[in-house]
Amino acid sequence: MRTVYVNGEYLPEDQAKVSVFDRGFLFADAVYEVTSVLDGKLISFPGHAARLQRSLTELEMASPVSDAELLEIHRELITRNDLTEGLIYLQVTRGAADRDFLYPAPETVPTLVLFTQAKPALEHSPMVQTGMKIVTIPDRRWGRRDIKTTQLLYPSMGKMEARARGADDAWMVEDGAVTEGTSNNAYIIKDGVIVTRHLGEEILHGITRKAVLAFAREAQMKVEERPFTVEEALSADEAFITSASSFVTPVVSIDGADIGTGRPGKVVARLREIYLDEMRKAGI
Ligand code: PLP
Repeated sequence: MRTVYVNGEYLPEDQAKVSVFDRGFLFADAVYEVTSVLDGKLISFPGHAARLQRSLTELEMASPVSDAELLEIHRELITRNDLTEGLIYLQVTRGAADRDFLYPAPETVPTLVLFTQAKPALEHSPMVQTGMKIVTIPDRRWGRRDIKTTQLLYPSMGKMEARARGADDAWMVEDGAVTEGTSNNAYIIKDGVIVTRHLGEEILHGITRKAVLAFAREAQMKVEERPFTVEEALSADEAFITSASSFVTPVVSIDGADIGTGRPGKVVARLREIYLDEMRKAGI
């Protein structure tokens, strides 16, 4: 049985509970982070901690613990759960209060929950060999996708639709351009140039995205941060996604049409290798 962290306590998972009045439950008034663990070490922890603070600030939500305490809780969960490869999920909500659309009094105690998910095949996912099949769907999410809130119903519906259409995931499209994947950032490569949506309120500012683009530039690859259309994606040489849990994973088809050769390409494989090498070295 897993040990879960809830508001200052480490509890067996079947005893870990939050109130039915919790605003995370009633209003999706909550933000989250997912940090991967390789060799028992946290990947990109400072980036996830910084983005968490940003999400909290944007929602005028109190920060339940300092970054140092947060790191300590992550480490403690890794130890207590013997986690070598997997994920740590973290969620902060505005806490439990009488149901009211208005935010409760600022002194309301936020809820902080963290739990581990062991994933022995995190690094060696079969999708790396086969590549992912993507379908496109309209982006019907709210306008502040840069805040990492738990409003994940539309992404969840998108993954269900992808599955029903025989694919692995969906890329969302707005005003003719791809925004991002349901739980990842989206990229295409054409003539050696990596193209991905620029940062703004339309997409989540991926921690993996930032690292991968920096490594790509260091390796003298050209990067363009701008919108791209589905048509442009269909004529790309390679495509891929990034996220904390998938790292860099190739995309081989979009809406049933092959990208490039229809098989994972060399540039994506190289990016994944560089990313994993560098992040392992920096793991804490
Ligand atoms: N975009 C969306 C919508 C996401 O949900 C995620 C991850 O959950 C990402 C992008 C990738 O972000 P990161 O690399 O920080 O995991």
